[in-house]
Amino acid sequence: MSSVFERIIAGALPAEKVFENERILAIQDIHPDAPVHVLILPKKHFKDLNDVGPEDQALMGEIVLVAQQLAEKFGVEEGYRLVSNCGPMAGQTVFHLHFHLLGGRSLGALG
Ligand code: AMP
Repeated sequence: MSSVFERIIAGALPAEKVFENERILAIQDIHPDAPVHVLILPKKHFKDLNDVGPEDQALMGEIVLVAQQLAEKFGVEEGYRLVSNCGPMAGQTVFHLHFHLLGGRSLGALG
């Protein structure tokens, strides 16, 4: 069965989209951990970061540039976090690669 993000990308489930092009979709997180909590998803399916290969370097770079644009759009360019949880031990719960863009509050140290 495909993950919730694959179903959102396919248009089978609704989401609040904040950015979209042919390769990337960004949506509002349904349970935000910060005033700004956007999820940036490649449309190509990767289970997690370990699925990314050398052929995907341009796409991963584009995701960083989209994150920069979204940080500016939401007014958090002075301080934000871009993070991807890889595997259950890291807290990954949806197994389609995604990057959390978090900002709008003091985020503290990673622990
Ligand atoms: P992770 O735990 O790193 O795999 O992150 C999964 C994220 O997806 C969590 O922050 C959830 O709140 C979020 N999430 C789950 N289902 C949806 C959904 N239907 N729309 C938007 N965000 C979702």
